[in-house]
Amino acid sequence: MQQFEMGIAATDAATGIAGTDATHPLATHGASGFPAPAHASPGAPLRDALHRLWHADIRFGRTGAQRLWLALASLAGIALWLWPQGIVSDFAALSGAEAVRVFYMVPDLELSLLGGSMATLLLWLAVARAGFVILVGLLDMALYRRITGRPFDWESMINVSIVNAVFIAVGGIALLNLPVRDALQAYDALLERVPTLVDLNGALALVLAALIGDFCFYWSHRLCHGNRFFWYLGHIYHHRNRSLSQLTTAIEPPFKLLQASGALSLLLLPLLSKLFTTDIAGAGIALVVLMVVDTWTDPSHSPAMYWLEARSKALKSLRLVFVTVGVHFMHHARETEGPYRTGCNFGARLTVWDRLFGTYVEPTDHIPDTGLFDAHADTCVNPLRYLLLPPLRMALELRANPVRSWPKILFAPTSYEPPIASA
Ligand SMILES: [Zn+2]
Ligand SMILES: [Zn+2]
Repeated sequence: MQQFEMGIAATDAATGIAGTDATHPLATHGASGFPAPAHASPGAPLRDALHRLWHADIRFGRTGAQRLWLALASLAGIALWLWPQGIVSDFAALSGAEAVRVFYMVPDLELSLLGGSMATLLLWLAVARAGFVILVGLLDMALYRRITGRPFDWESMINVSIVNAVFIAVGGIALLNLPVRDALQAYDALLERVPTLVDLNGALALVLAALIGDFCFYWSHRLCHGNRFFWYLGHIYHHRNRSLSQLTTAIEPPFKLLQASGALSLLLLPLLSKLFTTDIAGAGIALVVLMVVDTWTDPSHSPAMYWLEARSKALKSLRLVFVTVGVHFMHHARETEGPYRTGCNFGARLTVWDRLFGTYVEPTDHIPDTGLFDAHADTCVNPLRYLLLPPLRMALELRANPVRSWPKILFAPTSYEPPIASA
């Protein structure tokens, strides 16, 4: 085995996993069947280094010093994982937060609109929600083998954490961009002029906001699955991991930006909220109830939670209204036939829209395999390949096909295959 710094190693041929093993398909075609970068010529150190990085997988031994490196890298991975989860900001909420998330896809609630004790209660609920997600992540880690029969994928967790950190950094840099900020400010200014048509208050406003929020998410999510542009340059990242758990869940790169610019249906969210609802602050105890539900449904990629749900009739009954972990796991299920293939369970928190539009699939009692259909799509052991293969695939398709095919390559439904394959 060829050794790199920080425990990143080329493939051990005995494991049969990608790397420099020339007999492995990834060595010659890339992890999704694409040509790997050409071998470096002598005297081209940068190219040689890139080539080695491209083929180097994160892989640690389980004994001796390698075990120590794995433990350290895992701790760093968990720290990186916390960063984009909103957990840090939930904890930070205790020190001077102005607004708090009550329910996924419902606009954050200004705490100044609430009475003192309710504001304090919601702040503590936000902290409890963050702690719960961390606890579930650790439970996944501890119980993964017992529940799934497979060892916990430490390397995948480290890889995904690196990838998530890169996505967040790129998103942050993009938001520093003046035209992007101008566009967002213009949209905010536009919203200021939107009148409120139906001035609801209290619990009714909160329920409507939750319905509107999930409606927008549902269609945005379907768009992300159904359109090549949003799929290959965005949402595919969230679906590639075959060792799904709380700690191995990748966000999609433009997730924050997508909410603001990519998916039009998400742009509708603040607009619709402004048109139909105003005073969710007056919802009283309903705020607490919905935050508790939000906390329970937040860790929606957890095998440990799925295991628990599959054994409880009461927890299963929540599926009638809410997207439990079982419901979302079916969205990630890797099956070759049936509704799984075209996508199901697109809702974020409520099952109502999937039921209404015919995309609801009842979770199985066994935890399904997750990931993508393409045999070479999972590259959860190399951040570089994980980050670059989807755009590379699209770029190669564009290069291989005539210009008249480009609009379809970019924006056709995901079922579309270009006339000339890229590899
Ligand atoms: Zn999805
Ligand atoms: Zn997911």
